[in-house]
Amino acid sequence: MRIGFGFDAHRLVKGRRCILCGVEVPCAFGPDGHSDADVPVHALMDALLGALALGDIGKHFPDTDEKLRDSDSIELLKHVYAIVKGRGYVLGNADITIVLESPRLSQYIEAMRGSIAAALETDIGNISVKATTEERMGYTGSGEGVSSTAAVLLVKAG
Ligand code: MG
Repeated sequence: MRIGFGFDAHRLVKGRRCILCGVEVPCAFGPDGHSDADVPVHALMDALLGALALGDIGKHFPDTDEKLRDSDSIELLKHVYAIVKGRGYVLGNADITIVLESPRLSQYIEAMRGSIAAALETDIGNISVKATTEERMGYTGSGEGVSSTAAVLLVKAG
């Protein structure tokens, strides 16, 4: 078994789409970034790569690459998972936490779990997505940004 952990944070700006775990959350602001800036998916990709000591998403998907502008992070996640499988591992389970002051994400959590489960070809029971706030403290609390952590367990295939 291999364990991995990832973290990501992006600034929130007015007029950007807010896509979290591949699900668009209706919101006046969204995470800024080179790709679609899906923060929890970025944390998850770093966790998957970290589990196998394969570097980070900056190494695999440089933000200087114009081909990746506004790219769908779920597609990047599928690419990362193909690398994982190529190394002879499959996902055991993943646990993601999104830190965002508002809007509240509870009504989107099941769709987020389904989106991640589909991308990682696994049962929804293996994917946990949680949301919390930092009680108006710090950069997430002020609405300046959104952050996410992700932990994964990989197991040998077959
Ligand atoms: Mg990122």
